[in-house]
Amino acid sequence: MFKLLGRSAQQLFDYFTPCSMCDIGMKRHFGVCQSCWQQLPWLKQTIERSQQQIMVACHYQYPIDRIIQQFKYEQKLHHQRLLNGLLLQPRLPKVHAIVPMPISTDRLVERGFNQSLLLAQALSEHLNIPVWQPVQRLAQHSQKGLSRLERLENIEQQFVAAAPNQIRYRKVLIVDDVVTTGSSITALSQVLQQLGCQQVYSLCLAAAQHQEINSNAAADTTESPLL
Ligand SMILES: [Zn+2]
Repeated sequence: MFKLLGRSAQQLFDYFTPCSMCDIGMKRHFGVCQSCWQQLPWLKQTIERSQQQIMVACHYQYPIDRIIQQFKYEQKLHHQRLLNGLLLQPRLPKVHAIVPMPISTDRLVERGFNQSLLLAQALSEHLNIPVWQPVQRLAQHSQKGLSRLERLENIEQQFVAAAPNQIRYRKVLIVDDVVTTGSSITALSQVLQQLGCQQVYSLCLAAAQHQEINSNAAADTTESPLL
């Protein structure tokens, strides 16, 4: 009942407020107008990074790059509605649970929230399947000055299974915001398989080429280019 009321209040609000991107058009898709929606840098494909298949909604290009950065670093959480909508665009597999990409406690304290958890929670509500967080992430150190092999080992060591848990899911979907090399997803996926997951799918908002990650995001990511 409240959900229904909430939805019609949202519809009413949408009717009287313009597109959240251009401030002109009428809201049609997750708070943005038809024209802004069509002009997003769509990818809607499964790509391969670090021998991992990853479903991706968009290229990490304007305006999606700005929107994700504002969402993550400037706490502009109103962007979440559009970001939730993006994650629904690729054809999603049937899974038993959604696993948000974990962030370390340091990052959590610094940022105040885990952006992937917020996205996973919204997706979980939409698909009516649980969010599952069986893996912890240890301190995310800088990858600078490390060799390719050292970087891979560094990332693998960051992901550890949380305290033993009775719950086990066979098919899961990892949710992350931006994929660059895919090494975090690969490392998380390995731990999930050790925990008994038989099929691990991955879904990201956007895929970046290494050079597209700006200095702000580069400081955040542990996925430095593996050259
Ligand atoms: Zn618009």
